[in-house]
Amino acid sequence: MVVRLLRHAGRFVLDRLYPPSCLLCGADTMQAGLVCSTCFVRLPLLGPPCCAACAQPQASSALLGRDGLCATCERRHPAWEQGRAAFIYDAGARDMILRLKYADQLDYAAFLAGHMARAGQDILGPGVLVVPVPVHRWRLLSRRYNQAALLGRSIARGLGLDYGPDVLERLRATVRLARFSRGARQREMQGVMRVRAGRRTLLRGRTVVLVDDMLTTGATATACVTALREAGAQKVHLLVAGVVPERPGLDIDLQEML
Ligand SMILES: [Zn+2]
Ligand SMILES: [Zn+2]
Repeated sequence: MVVRLLRHAGRFVLDRLYPPSCLLCGADTMQAGLVCSTCFVRLPLLGPPCCAACAQPQASSALLGRDGLCATCERRHPAWEQGRAAFIYDAGARDMILRLKYADQLDYAAFLAGHMARAGQDILGPGVLVVPVPVHRWRLLSRRYNQAALLGRSIARGLGLDYGPDVLERLRATVRLARFSRGARQREMQGVMRVRAGRRTLLRGRTVVLVDDMLTTGATATACVTALREAGAQKVHLLVAGVVPERPGLDIDLQEML
């Protein structure tokens, strides 16, 4: 805490000595914590038309059916109700995301959270409880930050919404899921997420917006949604910074396994 305060005090002084710079390329900007206009136009921002559930960008709005769902989600709806993403994480975006990782984590989170609040404005209504996807404490030790928690806190604070950083807990660390078959991912995620006993009353009848940094297979989000619903949440929506395009075999039927 003291370290963080000193860092912020240090930055306040530095901002006065050096002009604020772009989070991506380091060029001068008008305001701290933003990207310059050149980098901004290169950002893989996600706009309509997108599927209302898996957030996948669509070539045409004609591909979206009733309720704004893509064909895959119409066949089998994800565990969550509405899904929103701010960016596309494709090959072109990877370089940008990697560079962002070297930026100050708090500046980075605030920047992404701003775009997520825009992308999710229709699901972040009054009374919503914002809950981040938890990481296992071992992983937290190596990473120092839970990116989803930084994003969730920034979004909730910015909009004056309730924030539940400790509603969900991850009972064990899981392996990277993207390389595995759907069946293997489902087995890996079984029983991993749990709502803390003292937090169940907070969820009863609530609309929850689950926040994560990335949506890849959907297995992690599905495990969280299932735990939240079982604990009494009325509706759970999903809001992520980035969506990986075209994921065949999205784990939308995991709820049947849990
Ligand atoms: Zn720049
Ligand atoms: Zn979809």
